[in-house]
Amino acid sequence: MTPVASQSSVQSSVGSIFDSLPPRWLLMVESTSTTARKTVQDLISYHLAQGSYVVLLSASRPCFDLYTSLQEQKVPQQNLLVLCSVCTNDSKSVGNTLHLKQRQSLTEESIAVGVIAQQFKNKKAVFIIDSLPTLLMYHSPAIIARFMHNILVQFQREQMNGIVFSLKGAVDTTVREEIAQLCDNVVSL
Ligand SMILES: [Zn+2]
Repeated sequence: MTPVASQSSVQSSVGSIFDSLPPRWLLMVESTSTTARKTVQDLISYHLAQGSYVVLLSASRPCFDLYTSLQEQKVPQQNLLVLCSVCTNDSKSVGNTLHLKQRQSLTEESIAVGVIAQQFKNKKAVFIIDSLPTLLMYHSPAIIARFMHNILVQFQREQMNGIVFSLKGAVDTTVREEIAQLCDNVVSL
């Protein structure tokens, strides 16, 4: 019984994050590396259950692994779009997945985010970025701070809701501050 109880408490804590936010919001959510995968999946499941489109910019988990896990939990996936930079380009596609051609290419990610943001403009959509810790392994903090700034400003302009997921204590403070400044709230789970 313990796993069931802990799962429902995590899910309700994910849901309560969104109770007191304005209609349009940007949020930074931090968790530990132990709970990261589950936290991101809970965020996805919660917003799909709320009837939102969810776009995941993913660099931390192969898309097929996520889709399998959501399927096991009977989460409907038709409103989920994954921009995956984990699998190789010739991976067998599952669900609604766009595979980015080059891993960790900020230019390609920026262009993809821009195109998608236009498509989901004025729809009930949440953009979740789980790639921050991974991107910081490949690029300097200054470059990532600018990249995140540009993406979040774009979300504000297109009136999209967005979540930047991060790991507690693992992200450069300059980058964290840049993101936190543009977000309505920083939530630590
Ligand atoms: Zn993939």
